[in-house]
Amino acid sequence: MSTIFSKIVAGEIPARIVYEDETTVAFLDANPLAPGHTLVIPREEYERLNDVPEDVATDLYATIHRLVPAVEDAVDADASTVAFNNGEAAGQEVPHVHCHIVPRFEGDGGGPIHGVAGDPPSLEDDELDEIADDIESRT
Ligand code: 5GP
Repeated sequence: MSTIFSKIVAGEIPARIVYEDETTVAFLDANPLAPGHTLVIPREEYERLNDVPEDVATDLYATIHRLVPAVEDAVDADASTVAFNNGEAAGQEVPHVHCHIVPRFEGDGGGPIHGVAGDPPSLEDDELDEIADDIESRT
């Protein structure tokens, strides 16, 4: 399978590439939510964050770290929302891991990341303890 982003990496379809190195590529989103909306991807196709090997994850974060201030400064943004839609149920449409860097501006009408989920659950302390223990045991 070759995703649309692999085609960008291969130069088969055009994109406004703003950074690339051995393992990662960053380019402007074709349907920007704000001026400067940028996607950062690993060159290799991994569907979800869960599938990304540790060394690639390190490189991916290094590129995000480099791009966030570059993107914000380029469009004179006040802030940015930096996020992954990690899996189809979370809204991921392109099955090739990508980090969205969305520049944000005072009064832009957008919301915080807290708005992405449905109704917040009501969880008792013992349920929270159990979930925390379960996550800890898997790390
Ligand atoms: P997702 O919903 O998978 O997290 O986001 C996919 C993003 O990829 C969307 O914001 C969409 O606008 C962007 N996108 C989809 N196809 C292309 C393309 O061919 N070129 C570029 N530059 N961006 C694309």
